[in-house]
Amino acid sequence: MGFKQFGLSPALNQGVQAMGYTDPTPIQLRAIPLLMEGKDVIGSAQTGTGKTAAFALPILHHLGEPADGPRALILEPTRELAAQVETAFRDLARFTRLRVAVVYGGVGYGAQLAALRAGVDVLVATPGRLLDHLERRAVRLDRVQFLVLDEADRMLDMGFLPDVRRIVERCPRKRQTALFSATIPPEIETLIQWAMRQPVTVEVGVRRRPAETVKHVIYPVSDYQKTDLLLALLERVNYDSVIIFCRTRERADHVAALLKRHQHAVAVLHSNRTQMEREQALRGFRDGRYEVLVATDIAARGLDIANVSHVINYDVPQHPEDYVHRIGRTGRAEQAGDAFTLMVAEDMMHVQAIERFIGQKIPRVRLEGFEYKYTALFEQDKPGASTAPVKVRGARVSGGYYFGPVRRRRR
Ligand code: AMP
Repeated sequence: MGFKQFGLSPALNQGVQAMGYTDPTPIQLRAIPLLMEGKDVIGSAQTGTGKTAAFALPILHHLGEPADGPRALILEPTRELAAQVETAFRDLARFTRLRVAVVYGGVGYGAQLAALRAGVDVLVATPGRLLDHLERRAVRLDRVQFLVLDEADRMLDMGFLPDVRRIVERCPRKRQTALFSATIPPEIETLIQWAMRQPVTVEVGVRRRPAETVKHVIYPVSDYQKTDLLLALLERVNYDSVIIFCRTRERADHVAALLKRHQHAVAVLHSNRTQMEREQALRGFRDGRYEVLVATDIAARGLDIANVSHVINYDVPQHPEDYVHRIGRTGRAEQAGDAFTLMVAEDMMHVQAIERFIGQKIPRVRLEGFEYKYTALFEQDKPGASTAPVKVRGARVSGGYYFGPVRRRRR
């Protein structure tokens, strides 16, 4: 799968490969398909999330071959960002014939004028210098089909919005527009309404309120529905970053492959990987390029991974101490933390050992809306109870899942 799923041109796939990207980042997974379809997209993602490639690849794909331009215009708040984004475009487009240029202030006009005269498909620019070039008639924007307003909130902070407006007014109305901004203050909202057409919003790495403590929950499930339940949990739970623990590295690889097939940005950490692979996985997870880290206990021991919003025990740990180690990854530094454990029938003894070890009973809950094929696990406290669906009463609902014990309704 990887980048192949997006249907990019072969030259671009080659460019992606040359960059060493194997798995798309969360923003890429969400934004690329929409931009490929021609939709206007608002991306709330910061630098470091892979957002440049998220907009560069669909634009380069649509541009295809060189033509009179510029046909794509990327506005950046600073010259550093402009230079960085130009480099990214050049790198990704290196196997195409498309021409990329950048214009920003603080340097002479000569080289920029020469580049503009030579013909440009993609123009990356800071607003002030672009307006200068427009006034000198060194460039025109009437062929622009793709407009990106990158780091819009920083452009606002720097007082560039009036310039941005003047530039957007020079672009054709019929175009595709993408806007990236970590936050959407009212001024940006106005800009969106004015400059975009039925935009779709994609969010990544949004931090939520910290919770007071780690919440422990057990999800009983039959062995053959384990993967389905894991997928449903990830679907339902609003997580920032989650570590999934597996018993063996084979199982870790298996779970990672499954999640990749379901569009999750996943890294794997186990002892069968080289030091370099492990560091790369870890770095990507810290930077938010991967939202999910699948790990074994041995590989994760001693690693400082902070700010994990959820730990999921895909396999119940065999030793109670491992449970405490795993759970210690969440709820650190007052971050929100939830700890979910998938439990199959054979795990009962281990779970009881964990509960004795931590001195508390962990509530068994069922995932609302999940179609359980086998529910006897929920009735462990009431032998002989029927397997009819169990209603949850008195449970606290939060984010689509229940905290609190599962009790049978009295009749
Ligand atoms: P950006 O957020 O666009 O500034 O990208 C941050 C860094 O991540 C850049 O160095 C990119 O080259 C790199 N990057 C972007 N996409 C990927 C990917 N899918 N895999 C690995 N690295 C990536």
